[in-house]
Amino acid sequence: GETGAPRVVVVTGAASGIGRAAVELFVERGAGVVAVDHDERTLKEVARLDRVVPLAGDVSTEETNHTAVALAVEEFGGLDAVVLNAGIGGTRPFEAPGAIEAADRILAVNLRGPILGIQAAAPLLRAGGGGAIVVTASVAGLRADPGTWAYNASKGALINLVRAAAIDYATQGIRVNALAPGLTWTRINAGVRQDPVLTAEIERRIPLQRFAEPREQAEAIWFLASPAASYITGTTLVVDGGLDAS
Ligand code: NAD
Repeated sequence: GETGAPRVVVVTGAASGIGRAAVELFVERGAGVVAVDHDERTLKEVARLDRVVPLAGDVSTEETNHTAVALAVEEFGGLDAVVLNAGIGGTRPFEAPGAIEAADRILAVNLRGPILGIQAAAPLLRAGGGGAIVVTASVAGLRADPGTWAYNASKGALINLVRAAAIDYATQGIRVNALAPGLTWTRINAGVRQDPVLTAEIERRIPLQRFAEPREQAEAIWFLASPAASYITGTTLVVDGGLDAS
């Protein structure tokens, strides 16, 4: 079972933003991390950290997910937690050319990816007596916004996937939870950051009046992956500066 802080962790979408902050936090707190990302260039920077083993690959494939958990066992001798965090936007208007192809890709990365991640990780977590699965959803899975239907659909499905997986795995000692970040300064919001007027307009709508730093999301991931959350499964932890409350 979960007796101490996670010692071996797989993080996907590890080369940037929230995933990268999570890798840094887990390493600081003594874990070995398999860092998975399809962006090989930025992944190299993360791989410079001690106790980080990089894996270049696409999370929408079975191969990447199986290789990631196998590497954890090979390099660090087990598996305590997985953070299924890789995700993309890119919704096109419903009737725009290529809209369904874009939606297929969003669903493949944001939903199929975590499904494959759960399938690959669960047997190893079980073999180690239990563990934690944390999935990065979004406040966009709890509500909808103009022009982001495919992303909203993928994250909404992910939140209910987590509930279902939590029920199916509860008796095996595997907890499954979602993080729902609000607006966070990562590459996803790079365009917004370059526009001070738009930034100020968005920040006025957030009760805490600012975007989150990736590290503030990583702290919540850490909590859900740690024994401090030993009685928490099937939930979505909203980390949004009060956005969802307002
Ligand atoms: P980011 O773009 O900085 O990081 C995402 C990382 O995932 C990138 O390094 C990218 O290369 C990687 N990735 C994308 N597709 C992949 C694939 N198919 N296989 C492997 N790696 C892949 O963005 P972020 O904001 O850190 O996003 C992390 C998660 O947080 C995503 O699931 C995103 O939907 C979610 N999220 C972000 C925000 C926000 O405001 N930044 C808000 C809510 C939810």
